[in-house]
Amino acid sequence: MFRRSRRKIVAAIMSILVLLWVGTLGVIYASSYFEMKKQNEQMLQSHAQMYNLPNAFNQMMPPNGPRPDGNPGFKPGFDPESPKFQLSTFYSVAVSYKGEILEIKNDSPTVYASDDLAQMAKDIIKDGKSTGTKDNLTFLKTDKNGYVLVVFMDNTVVNESAWTLFRYTLIFGGVALILFFFLSVFLARKIVNPLEESYQKQKQFISDAGHELKTPVTAITGFIETLQDGALNDKDTAQHFLDIMSQQSVRLNNIIDDLLTLSRLEQSGAKVEVQPVNFMDIVADVLAEQGFLAQSKGISIDYESFPQDTVIYLTANPGLMSQAIGNIVNNSVKYCPEGAHVQISANREQSRVKIVIEDTGNGIPVEYQKRVFERFFRVDKGRSRETGGTGLGLAIVHHIVNLHGGKIKACNRKDGKSGARFEIELPV
Ligand code: ADP
Repeated sequence: MFRRSRRKIVAAIMSILVLLWVGTLGVIYASSYFEMKKQNEQMLQSHAQMYNLPNAFNQMMPPNGPRPDGNPGFKPGFDPESPKFQLSTFYSVAVSYKGEILEIKNDSPTVYASDDLAQMAKDIIKDGKSTGTKDNLTFLKTDKNGYVLVVFMDNTVVNESAWTLFRYTLIFGGVALILFFFLSVFLARKIVNPLEESYQKQKQFISDAGHELKTPVTAITGFIETLQDGALNDKDTAQHFLDIMSQQSVRLNNIIDDLLTLSRLEQSGAKVEVQPVNFMDIVADVLAEQGFLAQSKGISIDYESFPQDTVIYLTANPGLMSQAIGNIVNNSVKYCPEGAHVQISANREQSRVKIVIEDTGNGIPVEYQKRVFERFFRVDKGRSRETGGTGLGLAIVHHIVNLHGGKIKACNRKDGKSGARFEIELPV
């Protein structure tokens, strides 16, 4: 699917480029061709108009009168004094109405033999065409009131230059198209690869979510069947099974809650309503929620701000920020042994607030410190399930911090003692 999209993007870019290239060059070449053709005809007309037979011939011609073809004559179309006219090579062949050659003016006999010019003129008169091209010559046939004049203009140099230009356009255009092809392949990859990655992640997430949901559902179904098969008769066993089923349904509920939270956070995109919040209030919320569990494990939670006792304000969504800090503290309480200590601190650094939460537990192995923010990733799956973890807590934290334009990283305590450490940086 993505390979096809990449191909389509390359094909679209290349077709646009080829169309633009061919279209632009086509218009440029066509307009230059018609402009040159017009100029050539005007130059030939001016040359023909200036042409006069030597006196000896003129005396043989009938007196001036209306032209046999009724043509009122040419107006000078091109300035004969212009350099272009002066530098152009003309040949002229005057032919009597009976077909006798009266005069051949050939300024470059080395290029065209006079006999050839005479033959070409006769052919042109026979064809009846009044303008056109022969080899590199543009010609014009005109009636000079008593004889027919065929004038030629040599376009060899112009044609050669045009051909060279055309050849180079093809070569460089072709090379440019090849380069553009590779560029468009690169662009197509740049566009499609992130989509493919996110599609794969989404697919993986759906499959992981399916597995996670399946575990408690399978357990509950299994216990229901066992109870139906007679375990109900034994009150203690039945009670034990019901307790497990209740735990599993709480777990199911937690997974669904976390999935919904994640989905809401993803939908809200970059928009999150923020306001100035005293970080102390967030810590108070977290303590109110986690205090009981922590106390039951003999775990102490402390907060301090830097510089000492300053009130730290965040620009945040209070509900989301409490959830993020709460998830991290909840993990510390879940994964630390009894009697551990959790330290929350906040420090104002220029335009950012740095929040650090560290505990005195076993810490997170270095190789997993980046992965703990992935959805459903757990260092120890069994331990996480035992503690009621869904594997989504830190993914939610990561999302919330990102939505606030901040950064989060997991590491271990810096004082050399064991324990996990989470650092959050938020813009104020
Ligand atoms: P869970 O629901 O499993 O706790 P989380 O996303 O909250 O999922 O955390 C991911 C994993 O990171 C946990 O399963 C655990 O292995 C590890 N972890 C998180 N916090 C701590 C901590 N304070 N100490 C040790 N390990 C931790």
